[in-house]
Amino acid sequence: MRFATGRATDQGRIRTNNEDAFLVDDERSLFAVADGMGGHRGGEVASHTAVEALRAAFASGRPVDTAIAAANSAVFTRGESDPDLAGMGTTLTAVAVAGPGELIVGHVGDSRAYLLRGGTLERLTDDHSLVEELVREGRLTPEQAESHPQRSIVTRALGVDADVEVDVYRVPVGDGDRLVLCSDGLTVMVRERDVERIARTETDPQRAAESLVAAANDAGGEDNITVVVVDVLDADAPDTATPDTATPDTATPDTATPDTTTPDTGRGEGRSWGRAVRNAVLVLLPLVLIVAVAAGALGWYARRSYYVGTDRNEVVIYKGVPGGVLGWDPTVERRTGIALTDLSPLDQDRVATNGSRGALTTVEAYVATLRESTTTTTTTTTTTTTGPAGDGPAVREDPPLPPP
Ligand code: MG
Repeated sequence: MRFATGRATDQGRIRTNNEDAFLVDDERSLFAVADGMGGHRGGEVASHTAVEALRAAFASGRPVDTAIAAANSAVFTRGESDPDLAGMGTTLTAVAVAGPGELIVGHVGDSRAYLLRGGTLERLTDDHSLVEELVREGRLTPEQAESHPQRSIVTRALGVDADVEVDVYRVPVGDGDRLVLCSDGLTVMVRERDVERIARTETDPQRAAESLVAAANDAGGEDNITVVVVDVLDADAPDTATPDTATPDTATPDTATPDTTTPDTGRGEGRSWGRAVRNAVLVLLPLVLIVAVAAGALGWYARRSYYVGTDRNEVVIYKGVPGGVLGWDPTVERRTGIALTDLSPLDQDRVATNGSRGALTTVEAYVATLRESTTTTTTTTTTTTTGPAGDGPAVREDPPLPPP
């Protein structure tokens, strides 16, 4: 098969580092996205370890699903051997050629693979996340899931257990089909219909990847964003896989692609000063009104929303928006007495990046699950590691589930 590819990654607007990684190995037609999590440098190490181990295992002749299992072992072993990296994990969604006219997708976690065919976007993978499992069980609607405070809690990840269950999808493809692999930093910020519109409009795969990342940043960029676009140019072309000599394109944070998409702001000029001034007033007056209304709405939003963050080592509930909005800085609403260091690495990560937001009742419910996890961690640690591979939540045992 013959492909054209595009790739882009960005740390987003809130995070201070990029824990995503990707792989574009044109030589072997192997493509992947990984989204790491864990305290300190854990997330970064997990995603890059996984991608590199995947590439090495695939290059040595293993099929995608066992190559992902090998990546799991690599992350797990590394986490076991270094206390600083203990508890780290990563998602991994990988695509390779299964045979003539057929791709294979291997998948663990809440990154996603989409297929764009005839202008319509179809999601290929199921998220291994708490909220998506609740949606599948009918306990949450998809709309509730979109804004659920626990939407970034994954229930299956690489590096958490010695074994992992890998979802495998076989995807028949034809010329003109496009695959989009992405981390949740895209799909949490950009609705699927907008992902579809951008993926359909930008014909060049590199521009498509960059535009999708830019759209996530325009929407707030609350997480690291990574997109790999794979266009099927010739589904029947013979396989060109070669021995392990190629140097694939793997992303590291210091080579992250900067945001280069700038909107066209060009505007026509008035013909005379009088007309220009009149036009300016006609245009500016509604604009001023719009800005005033928007500022009021932002202030209202800033002062009535809450999020979970930290103050020194303590988990606290803040009123406002992380970083503040138009001069409205967040204030401490409530202290919880929960020490950040008592939380699991995944929860620490989530709290440190202010991942839980919403109404006061919503964030209080999340704090309640944190409190419960700190009191049950010591008693459940042994049972979580002896459960069947891939069955248990990666974060903690059965967190209580408040309605959003
Ligand atoms: Mg993410």
